[in-house]
Amino acid sequence: MSEKTYDLYDLEDKYQQSLDDCKKFLISKGRVVKGTKISKSRIDYMVSINATCPLCGAIFNGKNSNTEHILPLGLGGKNVANNKIQLCVACNSAKNNLIQSYLGQPPYWKYYDDKWSTIKKFILWSEFVSDEGIRFSDSVPSMHQRFLDARFGGIEDSINVRGYGRLSSWKVGDGPNINFDQRKTKKVLRDTKDKTKSSFFSMIESGIGILGDKIFSDKKKKIRPKTRVQNTQVKEIINPHVKEKELELESLEEVIIKLVGKDEITLQKLGIKISKYENKRSGGKGTREFFATYGHKGTMKNILEKELGDKIDISGDHPNLQIKINSL
Ligand SMILES: [Zn+2]
Repeated sequence: MSEKTYDLYDLEDKYQQSLDDCKKFLISKGRVVKGTKISKSRIDYMVSINATCPLCGAIFNGKNSNTEHILPLGLGGKNVANNKIQLCVACNSAKNNLIQSYLGQPPYWKYYDDKWSTIKKFILWSEFVSDEGIRFSDSVPSMHQRFLDARFGGIEDSINVRGYGRLSSWKVGDGPNINFDQRKTKKVLRDTKDKTKSSFFSMIESGIGILGDKIFSDKKKKIRPKTRVQNTQVKEIINPHVKEKELELESLEEVIIKLVGKDEITLQKLGIKISKYENKRSGGKGTREFFATYGHKGTMKNILEKELGDKIDISGDHPNLQIKINSL
């Protein structure tokens, strides 16, 4: 039996409509529509057959679930069956935390310009897991990891799901349409498909875009769960699909030269620029994360002097250190 494989090209094709809807909404600073919940008959039905949350496998009891908008209302989602899914309360809130960890509080259109690539990834991830569960969630590794962080404290738990996808995909009387028992699956080696076309992000984003997925995927944690999902044992999640293609990182030197520019600036100012850069790149914040990407630890001054040597000049005394790029 062969599993269908997915990468972000596929996801972008598949969910183009949602991306378009969102973009239109953000550009026009659209009005957020009111959301409504799933019907009681659907809830009762799900409870009666021991249906689970389609993401985490928690069994619904009639009180522990919320109706989630797959493309969030705050990103232009519509209040229609095709855009709704019933999740357990914890997954619902983890998803909200996930998007807010990148975008802060709504309205989200204020972030449109510099956060579009992040927003796009969130949408693709959200749409995809609503159709497939989190089996293939790390087709978008950054979102996958953030969701795991928010939902389980970083673990990849082994779960048994008998859940339902978007409301338009099922009706009362139907069997669960997101089914998998990860406890019975075995680990499958990952393989990165060699795509000849340029990668997803470089195609659709210009500039630095988002490179953070490399960082996140490398950091994947394999620790014991803090929260156990019912009837599970810890095992690695299977990923028989193709992962998001990882982009080349800009070199440390390139980034620093670009950020410092022609004039002498303070190290403090450079730190702020680095933080902004890192945030754009990975959604993370701080110079520490930035330098860690390149495998460096320590103070900015020490790292820069060691790594860039003659190419830069750092002068003055703490806290008024200045940096300039030596002419080439
Ligand atoms: Zn859940």
